Formats: sequence, C-alpha cells, structure tokens
Amino acid sequence: MSRGGKLVNMIIGLEVHCQLDTKSKLFCGCSTDYRDDGPNTHSCPICSGLPGSLPSINKKAVEYAIRVAKSLKCEICEESEFSRKNYFYPDLPKGFQITQYDHPLALKGILTIDDDEGLEKIVRITRIHLEEDPGRLVHKGGVDRPKYTLVDYNRSGIPLIEIVTEPDLRSPQEARRYLQKLRATLEYLSVFDSEKEGSLRVDANISIEGSERVEVKNITSYKGVEKALTFEYTRQKNALRRGQKIIRETRHFVEGRGVTTSSRSKEMEQDYRYFPEPDLLPLRVKEWSEKISLPELPDARRERFIEQYSCSPIHAKTLTGDLKVAEFYEKVAKINPVLCATWVADTLLGELYYRNMSVQAVPHERFIELIAILDAGKITEKSAVEVLRNLLDQIKDSGICESPNECIVRLNLGKTGGDAITKAVGEVISEQKTAIKDLKNGKKGAMNFLVGQVMKKIRGRGDPQEINLLLEQALSPGDE
Ligand code: ZN
Ligand code: MN
Repeated sequence: MSRGGKLVNMIIGLEVHCQLDTKSKLFCGCSTDYRDDGPNTHSCPICSGLPGSLPSINKKAVEYAIRVAKSLKCEICEESEFSRKNYFYPDLPKGFQITQYDHPLALKGILTIDDDEGLEKIVRITRIHLEEDPGRLVHKGGVDRPKYTLVDYNRSGIPLIEIVTEPDLRSPQEARRYLQKLRATLEYLSVFDSEKEGSLRVDANISIEGSERVEVKNITSYKGVEKALTFEYTRQKNALRRGQKIIRETRHFVEGRGVTTSSRSKEMEQDYRYFPEPDLLPLRVKEWSEKISLPELPDARRERFIEQYSCSPIHAKTLTGDLKVAEFYEKVAKINPVLCATWVADTLLGELYYRNMSVQAVPHERFIELIAILDAGKITEKSAVEVLRNLLDQIKDSGICESPNECIVRLNLGKTGGDAITKAVGEVISEQKTAIKDLKNGKKGAMNFLVGQVMKKIRGRGDPQEINLLLEQALSPGDE
C-alpha cells in the first residue's frame, strides 16, 4: 500500500471466533442444531443461566479445540482453566461469559499463508481458547435505531474457539487469505461447518504508520473482513493526510454499506473482573492432546496431489484450499488427472462461483463422463465448456442434469462421428419402423431415407458412408 509514493505500513491482527460443530452445547445437553427452529426452543436452566444450575464440560468440544491447537502447531498448556468474564448484556443471561483467561488451552502457534507477492508467510498465533457463545439479539427495525429487540437463547452456550493472531498481517488481502486457510484447516479437521450462518465472526485490529489502533468488531463474513479493512485503511489514511489523529476506538462494520462506524460503547474501559470459574475443574489438556491424532491437513494434501496426480503446484494449492473441492477432485480424477485438475481448478470453480453454486451440487459421474469425452477427443475444449455451462444451469434450475452425451447431441456439439451418430442411428431405427420394413422388403431407397434421417438429427455433421455402415450393422439379422 502506498501513500504519495511512500509506503504506508498497515498492521493487522485478527481475533476469530469459530463455532465448533459439536452435537450439543458446551456446558449442557441442548442441541446445537438450532438454526431452523423457533427462538428459545433449544435452551435449558444451564444455558439460560438460571440460578443454581451447574455447567458440565462437553468432552467433544475440548477434543475439537485440541485438534485445532495441534494443527496450528501451538504449545498446548499443561492445564487449562475456565474463567468468568463478568459483564451485563441481555444476550448473556448469567451476567458472565464462561471463557478462558490466564490459562487458555494453547499458546504460540503458526499458520502459513501466501503474502501479497505469493511468497510463503508465517502468521503467528498468540493463543487459542474455548468459550461459550452468548445468545442472539434480534433488533427489529435495524441495528441503529431498533423499535424493539428480541433475545434468542438458542445460540447461548454453543462452543466457540477464539483464535488470536499476532499483528502479523499487512493487507486486507492477506487477512482474507489467512481466514481462507484457517477455514480450510478447520474443515479438514471436521470440527467446523463454514456453511452454517454465523459460524465465524471476526474482530480485526488495524493501525497504520504507528498511530493508534482501531478495533472493528463482529464482522460475519470472509468478504466482509477484506471490505472492512480496506475501508478502515482508506479512512485512517485520509484522516492522517488531513493532519487528524486516529483515536483508539471500537468500530462496527455495516455490512450492507461496506463502511465502519464509531461505536459509542467504551468496551476498552470495561473491567470484566475475571476470576476462575468455581463450577468447573481445570482440564489436563497437554496429556489429553498426546492421544489425539490429526487427519491430513491442506499443506500435506497439496504435496500429495503434486506427487500422486502430477498436479501443478498452483492447481494443487487451489484444489486443496477447500476440503469439498479436494474431495471432489479425488473422486473425479480417474481418467486424466492432469486434465482433470485443470478443469476443476480453472474451469469448474469459476463457473460455480459465477452461479453461486457449491461443488457438492455437481454429480461426479457426469463430470467424469465429460472429462472422458474430452480426453478421447470427441469434442473440442470450447464445446466441453459449453456442455459444462449447460449442465450447471440445469442443476441450478432443477437440481439434476442430463448426461454430457445427451447434452452434446442436443446442442450438436460432437465432432463428426462418435457417440452422437451412434445415438442418432439408434433413435432413427426405433422411430422409422415403416422405412425399415421397406428396407427389409428390398426397397433400396429406404436406406437413403434412413441415412437422411440420421443426418437430420446430427444436423449434417456426420459422414454418410459411416452412417450407412452403422445402420447396416444395427439392422443386421439377430440384432433386431
Ligand atoms: Zn442448555
Ligand atoms: Mn471471545
């Protein structure tokens, strides 16, 4: 980033809250599958904070958090302890959040990303801790001036991990790549579902040129983080240019308008009066972590793709950057893995993105068939793209699609000969019963008529002699 030719340093640190994809909440048995149900249908005395209720720890949530800490190469703490963070807010019925303070689960990790020059860069992780999600406030009539506010405790007590980085990021794009890599890692670990609404929330600290740092709170989308940081950078840079001072403050990102606005709450001056949670015992996580093994992670899978499928490094990176894409590729890379890599990474992903579709919507067999047809040289690359677009449009409309072959025939995209003609021959034979009877009765002209019918179906793009031969073969005795 430059200002009047001079480089302006942008310093960004992120605090990411991710919902762990467990079946029940962090301290009670309530189901975490609350999104499609009515408000306050997933709550109990524990997660709605009734006096006298006692929390008990969800073992799976701790195990998931340890998996994350191990995958980010953190130092797992010997003992981890829960604390109460005291503050009053309607989304927090107990009057405190159970979180971790001076004894978090893990410290000092790393995540490797690409910097803006495409070089490998290490982002240091400061700490990872477990905590409970507060409830959800629904402001009727907009956040700025709501008419009234409703509170839903379905989300109250959902397990979160908070992952805090050192201020190592230098641009909004780096921040986006960090989040993408983090998301991929969490999905590879099977502890996180990025498609669930609100499953990831980010607080971003940003400062430039050594001025005060500003915190942008509660950004709820990956694109939002990049947008909010870009907006903040421009705002701060312009303020400095006008000789103004950047004040240390908390701001909110208004997703719809792509801007950040100053928040009047003085959260930095709050005293949370942390103290150890008396109702939960410390966890011996280090010992526990030694028994937990990790699956293959994005970097390892990328290396394997290069080795096993001869993918180019850039394709391997794209294909392994998202677990669902990596899984799709491995299922379809049957015939020509290199061609397939190009087609998934360069063509399919672009077409899916354009249609706002997920790779999971694409049937493997159809894609394999299309690659096979292309690999056999039966259609041109250009036609194959047309077929793919057609099939994706069909899936987008109805959830299903015809086979690539059917599509090729329908759009008349096949090269001369091949399956398109065979198919047309079959169709003509079943449609033209009279002409076939005539042919068997010795009428020579009937053959010309049949060839003509096949030609019509493939819009004149076949070889008459070949069609003649195919018809003769298909009509030879015993095949009727
Ligand atoms: Zn509950
Ligand atoms: Mn937190």
